[in-house]
Amino acid sequence: MGGLGSGRHYYWNTKSTTDNYISLDIRKWTRKKLLDPANQFSCRWSRNGAEFSSISVFVAINKVILSYRNRESDGDWKDYNYCVKIDWSACSYGGKRPWFLCPAVGCGRRVAILYGGAIFACRQCYKLAYKSQSETAANRATRRADKIRERLDWEPGILNGEGLKPKGMHWNTFERLFNQHQQFVHSSLMGISDRFGLYSGLIDDFL
Ligand SMILES: [Zn+2]
Repeated sequence: MGGLGSGRHYYWNTKSTTDNYISLDIRKWTRKKLLDPANQFSCRWSRNGAEFSSISVFVAINKVILSYRNRESDGDWKDYNYCVKIDWSACSYGGKRPWFLCPAVGCGRRVAILYGGAIFACRQCYKLAYKSQSETAANRATRRADKIRERLDWEPGILNGEGLKPKGMHWNTFERLFNQHQQFVHSSLMGISDRFGLYSGLIDDFL
């Protein structure tokens, strides 16, 4: 089993598949100039043409407020509304670049990408929670995703992004495996993140 892994990222895009598991990349937000204070935008994720998740983002000074609904493991919907702090570092070529501070309890790491399950957290939080979990649905989903990664000759570890189609594999087969992979990754992250709590990143902190 590859676990969550770390290392290179590959990106694969075609017109037919825009599916992805949920992650927030602050570099993309910067490129799209979304981080102006008081700006609001939403992020949506779809699978096989159907939206399966969306969040609203409100930009404040040095923080963003995330709002979304998420279905709990018992099937009930829960509303989430909390802030993720933003920190800045100087760029060598001038200017400054933003980072998320991971909102999971006891973390606060400075990261470019937060991964979504029930709450958004950094790769390291997922790794730690993953290591300490016993045989659960999330664990099985992770393993099944990793099996597909092996078949596709992708780098092990579900947070390592998507790779390319292996030579000689039919596109239909590839797309089927690709979609299954994304669903397993999503289930895995949802299950693992059940263990996370938020530090103080509640809406009170913003008001
Ligand atoms: Zn973290």
